[in-house]
Amino acid sequence: MNKYCYSFQEGNGKDKALLGGKGANLCEMTQIGLNVPPGFVITTATCRQYLENSDLPEGLMSEVKQHISELEEQTGKRFGGQTDPLLVSVRSGSAISMPGMMDTILNLGLNKQTLQGLIEQTDDPRFAYDAYRRFIQLFGKVVLNIDDEKFDVHFEKVKRQAGINADIGLSADHLQEISELFLQVVQDETGHPFPEDVYEQLELSIKAVFDSWMGKRAIDYRREFNITPDMANGTAVNIVTMVFGNMGDDCATGVGFTRNPGTGENEMYGEYLVNAQGEDVVAGIRTPKPVQEMAHEMPKMYEQLVELRNKLESHYKEVQDYEYTIERNILYCLQTRNAKMNATAMVKTSVDMVEEGLITKEQALLRINPELLEQLLHPQLAPDHNQPPLATGLPASPGAASGKCVFDADTAVRMGGAGEQVILIREETKPEDIHGFFAAQGVLTSRGGKTSHAAVVARGMGKPCVAGAEDIKIDVKRRLAIIGDTHIREGDIITIDGSNGNIYLGAIPTIEPTFSNDLNTLLGWADEIAEIEVYANADTPEGARLAASYGAAGIGLCRTERMFNAEDRLPLVVDMILANTLEARESALAKLFPIQRDDFKQLFVAMSPNPVTVRLLDPPMHEFLPSEHQLLEEIDALKQYALIIKGQKVSLEMLGQHIELPTPFNELTEELVNEAISKKELMLQKVRDLYEVNPMLGHRGVRLGMSYPEIYRMQIRSILDAMAQCYKERIPVQPQIMVPQIITSQELKKVKEIVDQVKQEIEQHYRIELDFKFGTMIETVRACTRAGDLAQYCEFFSFGTNDLTQATFSFSREDAENKFLPLYNESGILQDNPFEILDVKGVGQLMKMAVEAGHQTQPNIHIGICGEQGGHPESIRFCHHIKLDYVSCSAPRIPVARLAAAHAKLLEDEYHPV
Ligand code: ADP
Ligand code: MG
Ligand code: MG
Repeated sequence: MNKYCYSFQEGNGKDKALLGGKGANLCEMTQIGLNVPPGFVITTATCRQYLENSDLPEGLMSEVKQHISELEEQTGKRFGGQTDPLLVSVRSGSAISMPGMMDTILNLGLNKQTLQGLIEQTDDPRFAYDAYRRFIQLFGKVVLNIDDEKFDVHFEKVKRQAGINADIGLSADHLQEISELFLQVVQDETGHPFPEDVYEQLELSIKAVFDSWMGKRAIDYRREFNITPDMANGTAVNIVTMVFGNMGDDCATGVGFTRNPGTGENEMYGEYLVNAQGEDVVAGIRTPKPVQEMAHEMPKMYEQLVELRNKLESHYKEVQDYEYTIERNILYCLQTRNAKMNATAMVKTSVDMVEEGLITKEQALLRINPELLEQLLHPQLAPDHNQPPLATGLPASPGAASGKCVFDADTAVRMGGAGEQVILIREETKPEDIHGFFAAQGVLTSRGGKTSHAAVVARGMGKPCVAGAEDIKIDVKRRLAIIGDTHIREGDIITIDGSNGNIYLGAIPTIEPTFSNDLNTLLGWADEIAEIEVYANADTPEGARLAASYGAAGIGLCRTERMFNAEDRLPLVVDMILANTLEARESALAKLFPIQRDDFKQLFVAMSPNPVTVRLLDPPMHEFLPSEHQLLEEIDALKQYALIIKGQKVSLEMLGQHIELPTPFNELTEELVNEAISKKELMLQKVRDLYEVNPMLGHRGVRLGMSYPEIYRMQIRSILDAMAQCYKERIPVQPQIMVPQIITSQELKKVKEIVDQVKQEIEQHYRIELDFKFGTMIETVRACTRAGDLAQYCEFFSFGTNDLTQATFSFSREDAENKFLPLYNESGILQDNPFEILDVKGVGQLMKMAVEAGHQTQPNIHIGICGEQGGHPESIRFCHHIKLDYVSCSAPRIPVARLAAAHAKLLEDEYHPV
């Protein structure tokens, strides 16, 4: 036989799926001896059955009656009784807490007769009528769907006529009058009298709470927070004996956290109201007092409350968020659940609870969602600001920033260049807006999702971004953003918070991120437990220093071309590319050599003594040249200019007068201009020579190294020369040379030959021995299939999962993210964006194959991942599972990755991918 109900003494406190979070905890608290009013839970399974059949299952109400009689026995009161009536609350509660989304009815069991009983029982008619009018309104609203307003007009009218401002000033007579008016509202609105039968009240309420599971509010909430049926399916109903915080000055009601959820401080935290019912605290009818005041106002009660809090924490071993009511100096606990806290508080409470001996280090690590830590490394809004947001979009890239609004990238650059802080606002961004991103403090778009161009680029740069704020109308022509009736013009200051998507008018102060001692302690524990190490992707010495300060154990990817793009180098790089002979190219390379060497040296020193993985040149060469279109325009302009100069000369001659031209004109002789034209034409020719239909699959990576070995030779020499210089200065450094885009061991062998030669030359020159690693990226499908072979020629593999994902899916990332990937994700064709979260089922299988083959050839081969996915906790779990040695991610992701690495180890037993 089905069992629909569990009393608080018998329900299993661990079974939140069946009893809901609130119900399970009410059972658990009862069973550990906390003072919970007697009650019972109707299961979520019953709710599902009800929703399916649109009717309560047979036998439910008789079970309910049985449990009610148990309550009657325990309390000595009678449900529907004329004397000493039992009143109950009917409360919703699903497996996952959905605050305020579903309904609760208080004071159920009141009718004309029990009301008299309540008056006699309490000797307090005012209290009784107050409870009654609250019940009629709540029942009317929740069960009978009558608008609050219909009741409120009467309530306000009585107050007005009596000349009373605060509810508390209403007398018993007033409340009686209100109750009668309310009963009339029910009659008028429904055509029926208010139900007098208490079991009918109860049955209707149970149905209403079940129905609220499918209410619009609840459905929207579940969609917003991705609550799936396997996480929570249906609501339980909790029937709880009423206790009253509103029976006089020895009564109170309050809510509390067992620790401060803003700072994590171990202190009493919360608010209470004397002589009030629970909902008054939440509804803000009266301003509650901080719980500390109870120590003076009701010292005995305060002592009990401290005791309750200590019991809750020592039992749940987690910070709790609890509700309580004091009825005539007796404290009852009505609810508890794990508290929601910000990242700072989570970290502090974890460290404190370990030090207090409450939890183990493992538990301290596991209770924190790694993603939460990202908050800590971006500027945050000052926590005490209390400005309401003007609008909200999607939290697309974390961090907060303020600045003047600009509506296009050029203006961003102009104002940014003049030292202004700016926020770039666009409907959506395109690749040609990129210079605006560099100049702006943050980016705001009115369209697009979390994988939109704006979101992806801003995240890559670590700049705050709010995307898809659809309430904003952007009028670029008029340089205006309109939100409701607020007009924001270019130059007006706004603040955006990319961690939650909020947009504010004006500047709100931000606080800079700090790596607190607590965070250091916590991540130190994570490092002790984790097996997989966390490296950083960094291209500059500053980047490396930052990464080291966040605890990176090395650099997993340094992209050398980032150094090529700097202003003082680009002309040299262009010369190298334009060179048509080996000699010409080598002379350009000779000029680049010392520059690269010094860059590397700084980088190695910044990371000393940890490894730095340098990738040899990867992108196609045309990326360093201007576009064909741009060159054509420039050549055209120069030619026009040459004509003007010529025309000027001719006209002067024809006029037969000798006129001195001002100097700048003199200097720009025809000759100079023609020289510029021919250089540009040479570039144009080169750009056309280098043209490829699909450059990302073209002449790039090691293929360049095969065609122009002198380029790789120069880079290898810079790396090893820098290393030798560090050795001479007794600075321990560990460079690793990494070759991109390998498809066959033959390529690797050829690069290795260059490495060996250069190594020998440098060792001889400096008279030292160099000890470094040589390895390859694994980012083509073929490399995965040939990994066993590749392992013969190298000491490490690093999965370049950006390219490997593109290759596996045959997607180009930009096209996918801008065109069809959002649709694929929304419609569930693909669950995640594989460029953010490693595609375990596809790409992951290739990786697994390569790891196994690599280990077979060379058991000690060191293997890591340097794609963007390397900073994502889900991906890290998989990488740990297939036994990678390290993950490498951007600096702000390092704390996330360090914690995730520990989680991966601790949760390995329950991880079963595909
Ligand atoms: P929510 O899930 O929205 O918090 P609850 O079911 O917790 O809703 O109830 C709403 C309010 O009513 C809370 O303040 C709660 O403490 C109070 N309440 C619920 N049941 C009782 C009861 N049996 N006696 C006194 N107060 C109650
Ligand atoms: Mg509650
Ligand atoms: Mg690549």
